[in-house]
Amino acid sequence: MEITQMQAVQIVRAGEIKLVDIPSPSMSPAEVLLKIKYVGFCGSDLNTYLGKNPMVRLPIVPGHEIGAVIAATGLDVPSHLQAGMSCTVNPYTACGNCSSCRNGRPNACRFNRTLGVQRDGAMCEYIVAPWEKVIADSAISPKDFCLVEPMSVGFHAVNRAQVNDLDVVAVVGCGMIGVGAIVRSSIRGAKVIAIDVDDAKLALAKRLGANFTVNSQTEDVHERLQEITGNQGPDVIVEAVGAPSTYQMAVNEVAFTGRVACIGYAKTEIAFETKYFVQKELDIRGSRNAMPEDFRAVMEYLKRGICPKEELISGIYPPDKARDALEKWKANPGQVFRILIEFP
Ligand SMILES: [Zn+2]
Ligand SMILES: [Zn+2]
Repeated sequence: MEITQMQAVQIVRAGEIKLVDIPSPSMSPAEVLLKIKYVGFCGSDLNTYLGKNPMVRLPIVPGHEIGAVIAATGLDVPSHLQAGMSCTVNPYTACGNCSSCRNGRPNACRFNRTLGVQRDGAMCEYIVAPWEKVIADSAISPKDFCLVEPMSVGFHAVNRAQVNDLDVVAVVGCGMIGVGAIVRSSIRGAKVIAIDVDDAKLALAKRLGANFTVNSQTEDVHERLQEITGNQGPDVIVEAVGAPSTYQMAVNEVAFTGRVACIGYAKTEIAFETKYFVQKELDIRGSRNAMPEDFRAVMEYLKRGICPKEELISGIYPPDKARDALEKWKANPGQVFRILIEFP
């Protein structure tokens, strides 16, 4: 197949995103050529568009939430990857030599370069990827594959917090990442409390497995958590917002000897009552990206056929309407879960 130029969505500068022609990728023997079908916009892509993502150098092709079909495989690619298979890509890199990599936690590689953040991403007709990064399973559609990476981030936080069937887990923030944390906590048999300011999101959280919901704008969070947990507080709190008040809530409300899993990326400094760290003997654990086993766990969940996937996809736009998609998200940040770009 001879391809020379292809269409790509590019964020040119803050507030400007457009369709451009870029050179088509060429595949080396250990790589796989992927025909992109759908790519989801991540919050990090929205921040890039808004000029609030310091990790990005513009212009950049965004996109790391990938639903694709294998178009061709290089000569050195093992036979479990075959042309025609539906797949996604693990969009992170690992240097193999930093302390994270040496400790078996490549998801937190110090030199990670995520597709669409530290290097050009997947919002284009074709990409090539090293075969080790390609995750294929024809039982999952390319559209559903777009949900795997964003959900895996919430799944990973639940793994970091070592959630088990005896735990009461409160998830603060029921966006895409919080949703992943709710689902996996529920799969692991924990009792789940969803906390958000939006009743529609809380209703969805219930359908995804939350046992209790708390609207932090209209209810007293402390009282409700005490009531639900028999005055102990939740064993685990997953912070998936990144605001000072929600971070403080996590530390203040978690049970003695509880665990706090931090996924929300705070943009400002936050003051804490550090006496709680000591008094409660807390485990406060950061959670970044996801491990391959988190991807697998999301795929198993999607294959069970119980995920209300359509409710997690807030809109699908053609590549030349990428700007409209981001403007819609910008205007309704609380209502949008995922917006996909569909390549014909
Ligand atoms: Zn993402
Ligand atoms: Zn590393």
